This record gives sequence, structure tokens and C-alpha cells, in this order.
Amino acid sequence: MSIIKQNQRGSVIVISGPSGSGKGTIIDQVLKKNPNCWLSVSTTSRPIRTNDIPGVTYNFVTKAEFEEKIKENYFLEYNNYAGNYYGTPKEFINKKIEAGMDVILEIEINGAQNIKKLIPEAIFIFIMPPSIEIMKERLRNRGTDSEEKILERFKIAYQEINEVTKYNYVVVNDKLEEAVEKVNSILLAEKCRVDRIEEVFLNNKEETIHEGLLDNKQFDNSK
Ligand code: ADP
Ligand code: 5GP
Repeated sequence: MSIIKQNQRGSVIVISGPSGSGKGTIIDQVLKKNPNCWLSVSTTSRPIRTNDIPGVTYNFVTKAEFEEKIKENYFLEYNNYAGNYYGTPKEFINKKIEAGMDVILEIEINGAQNIKKLIPEAIFIFIMPPSIEIMKERLRNRGTDSEEKILERFKIAYQEINEVTKYNYVVVNDKLEEAVEKVNSILLAEKCRVDRIEEVFLNNKEETIHEGLLDNKQFDNSK
């Protein structure tokens, strides 16, 4: 019989970072490595880009349809970014967590703050580009946005980078494999948190020690 019983619920992992920092690329790799992770598909009113797959990268709706969904209380959170709506559907999230799946939300900083209020125990990871120059170069090379849209995203990027201290972790995306390994390590370390312990069973005795074991008194060296 194991000594500890840990909480088997999944976690909510919020991933933010400026456009072109590599969030999507890193999350793709993390999902490949972790079959237990599930990426929430957001709804957006932004135009479809060449590399988008409707229903996979986003659920695309018109502005009016999005506003209808807001009225129906369909979203856990939503925000306007660069002139378009983006929102996280409530549907599925609780079921996935209860089933032990880790739920990844790839959302911008205001949405992340709203999630912090709703789910304080969520894990907040900020993906940082190695430099502003590299971020600009990657966004241009991606080739999915007009120059006007790219400039709009650069402006937002400066505000976003200033919010990094509101996150639990920052991962600089210089070498992709290293950045992916860091995110995977964060997910792994989070599973080992002491506050995931629900019960402790000692020496196969009948005795079951509950949360009280974790009381500070147990670690008081002066005794
Ligand atoms: P975001 O989702 O944050 O907007 P993407 O994941 O789309 O960013 O990445 C932007 C561009 O940068 C893509 O073309 C991607 O292939 C590239 N990219 C991402 N990470 C790296 C990296 N570590 N090194 C080089 N190019 C990268
Ligand atoms: P993009 O247009 O590049 O796909 O996304 C623009 C921004 O919207 C990114 O910062 C992305 O993380 C964010 N975003 C995507 N989905 C959501 C969502 O459901 N809610 C919020 N608040 N932001 C989102």
C-alpha cells in the first residue's frame, strides 16, 4: 500500500506570451509528450489564417455570433485582442479536470488574470521570446499576418511583457527543445507539490494521518 494518497484531479495550465513568442509551437510539442494534457479550443471572431484548421486551432464565429454566446454565458472568460474577440468555452473543462486530464489554456494576459480569479490554483506560464528582434523576425517569417497586423501585435507585446511577474513561471523560448523541456518539467514538478497530498498512511498500521501531519508543528526542529 502506498504511503500517500495524492489528488488525482488534473490541473489548469495557463500559457501566455506575446504573439510570435512560440506558444503554439511549444504547446504542440508538450501535447505530443503528454497524452494526459488537453488543449482547450477557443472561440474567436478573428479572420481565419492560412495555417488555421477550423474546430482544431479555433472555433471561428462572426462578431455577432460571439456576442450571442457572451449573452448565453457560454464562456469561462473572454477578451478583445487586437480588435477581435477570443474566449474559452466553459464546456468540457471541469469534466476533463475531474477525469484527471491537465487542461491547457493558451490565452492572452487579461484572460489569464480572469482565470486567476476563477481558478487561483491554476499554473501560470509565460513564454518569453529571447529578444524583441527575434520575436519580430519569427512573427514575420511565420507569414500569417499582414504588416499592419504584425505592427499592432508588436505594440501589444510591450504591455504583455510587463505583466510577466503576474505568472508563476517564465520560459525563454530560445532553443525550442529546451523551452519544451522546461514546460514539461514544470508540469511534472507541479504533480509533486505537497499540497496535492490528501492522506498519509504510515507503516501499514491502521493509523491514518490526515492533513494535520502537514501542520507546521510537525516540522518544528526546536522540539
Ligand atoms: P505564438 O503562438 O506565440 O504566436 P508561434 O508558435 O506561432 O508563436 O511561433 C511563431 C513562429 O516562430 C513560428 O513560425 C514558429 O515556427 C517559430 N518558432 C517558434 N519557436 C521557435 C524557436 N525556438 N526557434 C525558432 N523558431 C521558432
Ligand atoms: P492569435 O490571433 O495569434 O491566434 O491569438 C491572439 C491572442 O489571443 C494570443 O495571445 C492568444 O493567446 C489569445 N487567445 C487565444 N484564445 C484565447 C481565449 O480563449 N481567451 C483569451 N483571453 N485569449 C485568447
